Amino acid sequence: MKLIYDYTFEDLSNYFASQNEQAYRATQLFEWLYKKQITSFFEINNIKKNLLEQINNDFFLTRLEIVSKQQSSDGTVKFLFKLSDGALIESVLMRQSYGNSVCVTTQVGCNMGCAFCASGLTKKVRNLSCGEIVLQVLEVSRHLQERNERLSHIVVMGIGEPFDNYDNLIKFLKIVNHPKGLDIGARHITVSTCGIVSKIIEFSDFPLQVNLAISLHFPNDDLRSKYMKINRAYPLASVIDAVKYYVSKTNRKVTFEYIMLKDVNDQLEHADELAKLVKGINSVINLIPYNETGLGLYRSNEEQVKKFYDRLKKHHLNVTIRKELGHDIDAACGQLRIKRMKECR
Ligand code: SAH
Repeated sequence: MKLIYDYTFEDLSNYFASQNEQAYRATQLFEWLYKKQITSFFEINNIKKNLLEQINNDFFLTRLEIVSKQQSSDGTVKFLFKLSDGALIESVLMRQSYGNSVCVTTQVGCNMGCAFCASGLTKKVRNLSCGEIVLQVLEVSRHLQERNERLSHIVVMGIGEPFDNYDNLIKFLKIVNHPKGLDIGARHITVSTCGIVSKIIEFSDFPLQVNLAISLHFPNDDLRSKYMKINRAYPLASVIDAVKYYVSKTNRKVTFEYIMLKDVNDQLEHADELAKLVKGINSVINLIPYNETGLGLYRSNEEQVKKFYDRLKKHHLNVTIRKELGHDIDAACGQLRIKRMKECR
């Protein structure tokens, strides 16, 4: 039996065609799954009984088990979920000025091994299936619906490297964007990568207008290779070339993420190097306060962040400083899962 949330609208249209059923069945099913968010196929009242039985034989529906839900005073909610094989993953609901956004996980653990990130400490156990990523969004969407609110944005910035789980990511994006389903606008979805160049190039041809964020973090190869293993395979020049290609193909603005690490990458000469690197690229640099995770790295103080910001501005770049959310509830990426895994040991 197959998890229904692994199937795109196209896949379900093909399924119904193979059953000699009309194409509009896929529309009906998608609406029940994603707009009404049913938990049993037998809640569907506009598809005939024998077809429902067929669907029920071929597919299954499930929900994610919620291990814990932590609510921050600013409205951020961290969900810790248990998957069918016992693996723990987390998703975060964030209240932004522009709407409600969920941050989803794409892998159990991560193999990218960035020295500043808690997620990499546990290594990749497996990829999440498309359905397991979709289910995170559905659970958070239900949480909001119960409060008469609506999910409007998705960021693929949780644990894992989305471009290391590319095919499932693409199916996920198609499903959550589909107008008959959750209908989250492509421009309201952001995918973040540490810089897998081959996939940035492939993603340039993806037809949906999804936003791309690059975890740049360091302005030269020496520093970047020291803290991000991926840079040894794909050095900065190749990342920048791939980003330029992406911008030329899609005409979209790219976000460069830059975590501010005290005395590591936060000096004014780093800002100058960064400015040189991204000059001429349609982009915004997002300066991110570092969440300290006991890895021997520390956040830059606010004054230094402001100086860095001003220096980039002097170079006429678009720069923002990320607002921190959920600081009172295990804020950093992967912290909740790691804490719980320790407790379970
Ligand atoms: N693998 C993808 C997406 C997941 S990480 C990527 O690298 O982009 C999401 C973002 O959080 C990345 O920019 C990552 O570098 C950053 N990050 C990781 N640990 C962090 C920490 N402790 N504090 C702040 N940002 C962190």
